[in-house]
Amino acid sequence: MTLAAYFSPVVHRLVPYVPGEQPKIAKLVKLNTNENPYPPSPQVVSAITRAAHQGLQLYPDPESSALRQAIAAHHGLTAQQVFLGNGSDEVLAHAFFAFFQHACPLLMPDISYSFYQVYCTLYGIEVHTVPLTDELRLRVTDYARTAAQAVAGVVIANPNAPTGIGLPLADIETLLQLHPSRVVLVDEAYVDFGGQSAIALIERYPNLLVVHTLSKSRSLAGLRIGYACGQSHLIDALQRVKNSFNCYPLDRLAMVGGVAAFADVAYFEQTRQAVMSSREGLTLALEDLGFTVLPSQANFLLARHPLWDAAVLAADLRSRGVLVRHFMLPRIEQYLRISVGTPAQCDHLVQALAELLAQR
Ligand code: PMP
Repeated sequence: MTLAAYFSPVVHRLVPYVPGEQPKIAKLVKLNTNENPYPPSPQVVSAITRAAHQGLQLYPDPESSALRQAIAAHHGLTAQQVFLGNGSDEVLAHAFFAFFQHACPLLMPDISYSFYQVYCTLYGIEVHTVPLTDELRLRVTDYARTAAQAVAGVVIANPNAPTGIGLPLADIETLLQLHPSRVVLVDEAYVDFGGQSAIALIERYPNLLVVHTLSKSRSLAGLRIGYACGQSHLIDALQRVKNSFNCYPLDRLAMVGGVAAFADVAYFEQTRQAVMSSREGLTLALEDLGFTVLPSQANFLLARHPLWDAAVLAADLRSRGVLVRHFMLPRIEQYLRISVGTPAQCDHLVQALAELLAQR
């Protein structure tokens, strides 16, 4: 008997997601996992510090009511239209379980957040990938199906990852109208950096679920808070799944930290504007170096150089203390995904690239 015989059969089939490197080396310019280059609001840190002295021996509120309320107020929804999870990865996992397990394929772009495929393998969901256009854009009419072609639902990221390209709300509405009897999940992890949120459509579409995270625009990747917004019947389904898995996905510190993050509107505005402005500057600097840069509405850029192999460039940058992400995936293997850093981090990257390119 091999030791793997202890595993449930599905474990052999899993192809786990591989997150970007979190190196222990100090002083790296870390532009590989789309974190926010700025720390969270000081109000978040004080709220967490206070909460650490108050009641950690007690379980947290299983409904995370205070944070649900804060998020609902921010988006003009009711608390019954908000579902919380331990990072949006967990929210996505519950949503795939709750909505996409039908005996027909789930539609998603061929290039998108690669965790979607991982959940499908975990839950035995069949996938049909729809190719992006040659310009790596999503064309919503490609998601139309005949009555005989049943689908389990649609999942997209908007802005898409790792392209950064955003879709207008009219296109989201087309997707919702193409598949009225299935859930259309719109993952808006990066929407605060200039995208258009589909939350405005929730009232009109019972099949729309929008997923957000506090990891990016609110600088809280380390706290693990994600949420979904949708009409209350979808949120009820997610609650059923969550309460069949873990009643307390958000701890007490995350809960108060999340509330404080939504309260500090000025800090949120200031940091997201800073990231967007660095993105524009970095795009121009990369173009000056000969890169082709996709138009991004996110906190990262997908860029390629006509003369340089992307894997070689990523390795050379690493040896100069700059981490970027390279995906060995069809169609994008010649691109680098570069998270937008502070102005100093962006300058460091551009300087390192200029030196490398000068060596040719
Ligand atoms: N969706 C997309 C498109 C992402 O890029 C990420 C970050 N890797 C997530 C969701 C998950 O973010 P988190 O679990 O930190 O909320």
